[in-house]
Amino acid sequence: MTVWICKTCGAQHKPSDAPPAHCAICEDERQYIGANGQQWLDRDSLDPSHSNDWREIEPGLVGIGLTPAIAIGQRALLVQTPAGNVLWDCVPMLDEATAARIRQMGGLKAICISHPHFYTGMVEWSEAFGGVPILLPEADLEHVMRPSPLIEPWRGDSLDVLPGVTMHRLGGHFEGSSVLEWAGGAAGKGAMLVGDTIQVTPAAGWVSFMRSYPNMIPLPAREVRRIADRVADLTFDRIYGGWWDKIIASNAKAAVGRSAARYIAALA
Ligand SMILES: [Zn+2]
Ligand SMILES: [Zn+2]
Repeated sequence: MTVWICKTCGAQHKPSDAPPAHCAICEDERQYIGANGQQWLDRDSLDPSHSNDWREIEPGLVGIGLTPAIAIGQRALLVQTPAGNVLWDCVPMLDEATAARIRQMGGLKAICISHPHFYTGMVEWSEAFGGVPILLPEADLEHVMRPSPLIEPWRGDSLDVLPGVTMHRLGGHFEGSSVLEWAGGAAGKGAMLVGDTIQVTPAAGWVSFMRSYPNMIPLPAREVRRIADRVADLTFDRIYGGWWDKIIASNAKAAVGRSAARYIAALA
């Protein structure tokens, strides 16, 4: 049996001999199937050619990105706390050097993922660290392409993961789209890890919100208002988006507020 990875979104699928017939994540309007049609990668074929990049971003935070990048090209974040480590978001595979490094740091306590586009190799990662829980909002379970008993669905709007680490389901892009509030980030001012629940845009100090990024389908004004209101209640000064360069280093809460106002005005 082979673990097949969708070449466009990076999702590992349920093991099978032949490649799956389709990738439901990419057939959804929030992703896409390109002009060349659905394509697959054999998970094991990546071992000789790919590994994970490891970058210390700030005290207590490491970025882990597949290199060379495939599919959406996001990087995961390893959040270190006195109570243990949490993996935020995920990448399509885990290499042995990265696994050994994380084990030296005490392994993982949990895996939390912003939304289905970044589920990718979550089951492989959990299994490598003793079957740590994969905490996914129940609302997005239909988008799991590689089912596993290690997935622990949760309901509601917020989940305390570890002391100082809280997952908030904001919705928008996906019903379960979430962010991670990390109290120890930004030298104690707090950081919010957002994936693309909130998208950091090229102009410094601005973000955006979309139902589909590749297909440019916006969210309704009421959804953007609701997300901004939820964010206003969280404690953070810095935002880490889903890619290496997607960072708002300071005053990030004000950036979300003004960006939501601009977005809503543009739709009016
Ligand atoms: Zn896909
Ligand atoms: Zn996405």
